[in-house]
Amino acid sequence: MPQADTPAMSNATLKELSAQLAAKACSSVELAQDFINKINILNKDLGCYVTVDAARTLAQAQAADARRAAGNAGTLTGVPLAHKDIFCAKGWLTTCGSKMLANFVAPYDAHVVERCDAAGMVTLGKTNMDEFAMGSSNETSFFGAVRNPWNRERVPGGSSGGSAAAVAARLAPAATGTDTGGSIRQPAALTGICGLKPTYGLVSRYGMIAFASSLDQAGPMARTAEDLGLLLNVMAGHDARDSTSLERLAEDYNRDLAKPLKGLRVGLPKEFFAAGLSADVQKAIEAAIAEYKKLGATVVDISLPNMGLSVAVYYVLAPAEASSNLSRFDGVRYGHRAAEYTDLLDMYKRSRGEGFGAEVKRRILIGTYVLSHGYYDAYYIRAQKLRRLIAQDFVDAFRHCDVIMGPTSPTTAFKIGEKSSDPVQMYLSDIYTIAVNLAGLPGISIPCGFDGDGLPVGLQIIGNYFDEARMLNVAHQYQLATDWHQRAPAVSQG
Ligand code: GLN
Repeated sequence: MPQADTPAMSNATLKELSAQLAAKACSSVELAQDFINKINILNKDLGCYVTVDAARTLAQAQAADARRAAGNAGTLTGVPLAHKDIFCAKGWLTTCGSKMLANFVAPYDAHVVERCDAAGMVTLGKTNMDEFAMGSSNETSFFGAVRNPWNRERVPGGSSGGSAAAVAARLAPAATGTDTGGSIRQPAALTGICGLKPTYGLVSRYGMIAFASSLDQAGPMARTAEDLGLLLNVMAGHDARDSTSLERLAEDYNRDLAKPLKGLRVGLPKEFFAAGLSADVQKAIEAAIAEYKKLGATVVDISLPNMGLSVAVYYVLAPAEASSNLSRFDGVRYGHRAAEYTDLLDMYKRSRGEGFGAEVKRRILIGTYVLSHGYYDAYYIRAQKLRRLIAQDFVDAFRHCDVIMGPTSPTTAFKIGEKSSDPVQMYLSDIYTIAVNLAGLPGISIPCGFDGDGLPVGLQIIGNYFDEARMLNVAHQYQLATDWHQRAPAVSQG
């Protein structure tokens, strides 16, 4: 009988853990304890988790075991996961990677946390992230950088870098993330795991600390496409507390996993394979496309002519929304308040000046500028118009193909510190992911190889609106034929 402390346990997928629990091969408490032990050993060095609370985790695991004993267990009851620290979780410190919220204990659960809890899943802790989800390297966190488990001198990507690194290092079998401009897909690519950004509106944003509300979307991070579907089944669903949450019938996102890919039309945008793409990444993506051809797919050349504008458009719209969303952090209601001040205005200034880091301040300044009288039409309105054109490019492209494929990130994991002093270089790491958010489309990243330094490469699959089941099918069939997703960094097997 497998024991909870065998290395195989932390290597298991959600699906395997679900089966083990159902077969009573282990208990949820044993499983949680196994992960807690591993976190205690590795987290100091990797920095994946900001908060762990073993007593809370084990109490939840005990409740899951009791639920199973009572015959009420669902598929994921007793299975552990980690939550990005952007999700409010009742009684848990919820920092959003910021000094501003370093002492904030959430008084309520985000919709996503509520859904995972209701399924009986067990929270292992809250994961590190770029401050207020602004970043692509997890270096802007007040709690320090996260290290990439494949190479500790490299970034794990961001902003869901803690979630990605935790899953890659086998410190959680799955995690939640959020993706405003690539923050699920890019860190998934850089750490060799899978991540899915759903269609905008599929997962409620209630209780998810807002960055850019028209782009923010929560999604699952895990090691297989099938696990992404299992977790998305739990996370998705209408919620009246988020006005952009869509009223759609519940669906099983894994219903089409077994479908053969014969006849699948894969669109390859020429803009994805242009200057700036690293040769190693290009090679791995081309090999993946060749594999898809073997699986019966046909390749269609397409164009997304306005995609080149997406980073510029995003860096007007996202900061504009952020400057408004972050105005609530004033040191009055919650969050950091300066110890000394002369009057109300001085208190705001000092509290915000001390509470926010440099990248967040940069965004607030840009956002306030583009929204200001006199610049609003020139920047904000213009960016909105271009957003429409970028979205229209995808509508046109999907007339000729079923899914679009390309790289998730132009490079593999870069060195810690390499881009932190050059914001524009950092912003360009999301060149392949941002247009998807601007269009509100779903996108997935799955591992498809390694570069010459042994760092993982991610393949991005973009689907049409609400086509998550097909995307998971496309990803799953590739994972049946290849084993990139099963490779583990050495640190995770210690
Ligand atoms: N890296 C992008 C940014 O810094 C995207 C972040 C995200 O998706 N949360 O804004």
